[in-house]
Amino acid sequence: MTTSTSGTDETAVASYAPSAEFAAQANAKADLYAAAEKDRLGFWAEQARRLHWHTPFTEVLDWSDAPVAKWFADGELNVAYNCVDRHVIDGHGDQVAIHWEGEPGDSRDVTYADLLADVSQAANTLTELGLVSGDRVAIYMPMIPEAIVSILACARLGLTHSVVFAGFSATALRSRIDDAEAKLVITTDGQWRRGKPAPIKDTVDEAVDGAASIQHVLVVKRTDSDVAWTEGRDLWWHETVANASKEHEAQPFPAEHPLFILYTSGTTGKPKGIIHTSGGYLTQTSYTHHNVFDHKPGKDVYWCTADIGWVTGHSYIVYGPLSNRATQVVYEGTPNSPDEHRHWNVIEKYKVSIYYTSPTLVRTFMKWGKEIPEAHDLSSIRLLGSVGEPINPEAWRWFRDVVGGGSAPIVDTWWQTETGAIMISPLPGVTSTKPGSAMTPLPGISAKIVDDDAKPLGNGGNGYLVLDEPWPAMLRGIWGDMDRYKDTYWSRYAEEGWYFAGDGAKYDEDGALWVLGRVDDVMNVSGHRISTSEVESALVTHHSVAEAAVVGAADDTTGQGIVAFVILRAGEENTGDALIAELKAQVSKEISPIARPREISIVPELPKTRSGKIMRRLLRDVAEGRELGDVSTLVDPKVFEAIKKGR
Ligand code: ATP
Ligand code: MG
Repeated sequence: MTTSTSGTDETAVASYAPSAEFAAQANAKADLYAAAEKDRLGFWAEQARRLHWHTPFTEVLDWSDAPVAKWFADGELNVAYNCVDRHVIDGHGDQVAIHWEGEPGDSRDVTYADLLADVSQAANTLTELGLVSGDRVAIYMPMIPEAIVSILACARLGLTHSVVFAGFSATALRSRIDDAEAKLVITTDGQWRRGKPAPIKDTVDEAVDGAASIQHVLVVKRTDSDVAWTEGRDLWWHETVANASKEHEAQPFPAEHPLFILYTSGTTGKPKGIIHTSGGYLTQTSYTHHNVFDHKPGKDVYWCTADIGWVTGHSYIVYGPLSNRATQVVYEGTPNSPDEHRHWNVIEKYKVSIYYTSPTLVRTFMKWGKEIPEAHDLSSIRLLGSVGEPINPEAWRWFRDVVGGGSAPIVDTWWQTETGAIMISPLPGVTSTKPGSAMTPLPGISAKIVDDDAKPLGNGGNGYLVLDEPWPAMLRGIWGDMDRYKDTYWSRYAEEGWYFAGDGAKYDEDGALWVLGRVDDVMNVSGHRISTSEVESALVTHHSVAEAAVVGAADDTTGQGIVAFVILRAGEENTGDALIAELKAQVSKEISPIARPREISIVPELPKTRSGKIMRRLLRDVAEGRELGDVSTLVDPKVFEAIKKGR
């Protein structure tokens, strides 16, 4: 890739320096960078000692079987013990681990002592069912405490979990069960969605019908709905787990024991079953959660709004926060149940101090209007985080001003299902931030931006993001398909031995790192390479636009033409051609006339995955008039009817 047409001045904006007050109390200090630079493996060994090891490791990294890494390989630990038992042993059993908020308004506080009892009971039940270390368990549940208990019970027993988002279809669940040959599914009778119970067990019944590997279905009663029952196969949680012994001794497992399989979002193709292991993964999730979120155990109230079906839920609801003895909010429902005040009410109720969410949700809040958050006391918030997509500068500023009281630092965290934990992010209290930039690789992480020939690019050049050194939480493969693993991530820069992330990026004039979106999403218009995120940012700068998705569609004259889909902010009038002309002019002015969209459609919704990512590959299918590709990971496949009408 060569330099883009970028004329956006976003990268030239002033940066926000950390306040002296924040810096003075921050977990992270600037010397972390120097320490990691001086002795990278020694640095990671030190981070690993945040954990309790039943058997201490003597070796840090074994890269002899690259690209499959072994971290801390001769050490042994129990991941659940690290997330639960040791906090109770250290005298924090009464500390709330989870402030759980149900969608219909019920709530429950779970202390670390409660969590230990619950996880022990679940572990005893799973053992009674005959499951042994190495077996796979599928978890298909809404955001209730039992979901976290189930995950931890698997970790405690060395069972490899595969969490599947509970909004997915029976077909999507079945293909993941078959792929991993899961023996057990843990689920619920139903889930609350916008004030009504929606079935879940029905979907599981359909998915497991004829599934050769499945022996049992364990069901938590959540909505008290009628369900079909298969005797011998189906078990109620309240009749098994709830009656099991609360005593269970955690056994150690080798650091490289497989902890979980998780399928990627599928925004660029068929989802991949990413494998993560134990010691390195927990080291990096724990280290990043402590430093990136500046988390203070016993003081902060932390809230990550992700679903456990997404990697962010694994690393920053379950493993990172619990290993650090966090008190966190877990919320079951959607942000507009019963109304658009829900998140702000929850923040007020629990005095949330750290709030980690996605750009798409921030843009949704913007669309609903700032009067809504402004009606609440959000003064407890002291740090904000963003993940999932590049956050456009407009949304970044809104987030900081409206939600963060104009002062909360924002950590824009770049990472992937494959990386397991945060890789690129500012360190609050240390790094000055620029709206829209993920700033810099974390201490201990090494990244480069290179061209097709592996030549590192200087400041200003658009290129490919690569990770040129192994990291502890890195994936260990794709389940059942090591060839695809090597081919997808390691073949592009095979000679150099670099991990190819699949994202485009650049360093700006000041050396701040900007992730520009998927390499597949970079458009080529008359020989100019233009990133979708730059055009989207320019569109969102217009006062009437809440959200935009841009794709390149085949064009006879220019190679690709820019096609944009936009959603208007609440109360903004759709003036049709007049508005579209204004928007096109806006992009010309902000970037360059070359980036002027060929077509703009005003639509009510955009197609999104469970993690809130826009499915550009499907919009490209629409723009080019093709049949839609794989829609199995879409939250709502029906959005396309409305989108086609908007064109
Ligand atoms: P698939 O690989 O199946 O297409 P996916 O890449 O959407 O799915 P995830 O692992 O959930 O699945 O997403 C990781 C991607 O999300 C990154 O590669 C990057 O494109 C994007 N991303 C995540 N965080 C950020 C961020 N802070 N800034 C920019 N992009 C981000
Ligand atoms: Mg990906």
